[in-house]
Amino acid sequence: MDQYRVFGNPIKQSRSPYIHQTFAKSTDQQLSYQSELVEISAFSEIIGQFSQAGGKGANITVPFKEQALLLCDQLSERARLAGAVNTLSFVEDKILGDNTDGLGLVQDLLRHNIVLNNSRILLLGAGGAAKGVILPLLEQQPKLIVIANRTISKAEDLCTHFSLNEKCEKLSACGYEEIKHQEFDLIINATSASLSGSVPPISKNLVKVKTVCYDMVYGKELTPFLSWSKGLGAEQLIDGLGMLVGQAAESFAIWRGIKPEVETVIDNLRIALTKE
Ligand code: NDP
Repeated sequence: MDQYRVFGNPIKQSRSPYIHQTFAKSTDQQLSYQSELVEISAFSEIIGQFSQAGGKGANITVPFKEQALLLCDQLSERARLAGAVNTLSFVEDKILGDNTDGLGLVQDLLRHNIVLNNSRILLLGAGGAAKGVILPLLEQQPKLIVIANRTISKAEDLCTHFSLNEKCEKLSACGYEEIKHQEFDLIINATSASLSGSVPPISKNLVKVKTVCYDMVYGKELTPFLSWSKGLGAEQLIDGLGMLVGQAAESFAIWRGIKPEVETVIDNLRIALTKE
């Protein structure tokens, strides 16, 4: 049976085995997908062993996404621009790397009928997650993307990174204090602030009834950012659970050539979350 893994540290919390096993059942694919904890210093060795043993593919999660990129013989443009890989495919004696996080986000937004074409997007955060979603968002032809971050230089570095790749004409960077009166259709929280119970300090004026508010973090309750946005009247609040399942569906499609249906998996995970 074809073998797949998700490698990370920590890994116990990973929902990927459940997601991929469910995809396999729903698409009649015979495969095994397990999670594996990797010691920080052992990543490349473990990947080598898995590939030698006939492993077909792997998902890579925190903190190995950048290291994974260095192991690849071939990279998708998405992975190259993201500077990180979350999907490895072992094909003959080559390692192919891709990054499906951004596709997962875009698919989730489209699934919620959010119009990205010609939209004005505010992206909060300039870490790995923000970097990974910029190209897939740009491919949807938004009007503009403003990247705002606590450490302004990191947002500026992201802009420079994409401008070096000739994709920056719609991108700009700033700090949270600088954006007070601009209009946005969509605000994406790509910071980890929700994990520590906080909200990036953006102006309340930015959140209107029709502003779509998206948090890449998800949980049993509304995240702090979504709860804050709801308090300001925003009607459409979306957390990152659909992005998680969406990125997995894209990895599955890369490996198996078939795109699984995501709705049921998202619904089941949502039910499981409420019971935690
Ligand atoms: P990084 O550590 O690379 O970046 C963290 C980002 O959050 C930085 O921009 C940092 O700002 C900012 N930040 C952290 N704390 C605060 C705070 N209290 N106030 C304002 N900004 C803050 O993390 P990632 O980019 O990899 O991940 C970001 C989040 O996205 C994580 O919570 C992760 O769980 C989630 N994620 C969800 C996915 C999904 O499928 N749903 C996929 C990938 C990520 P600064 O630069 O100033 O330090």
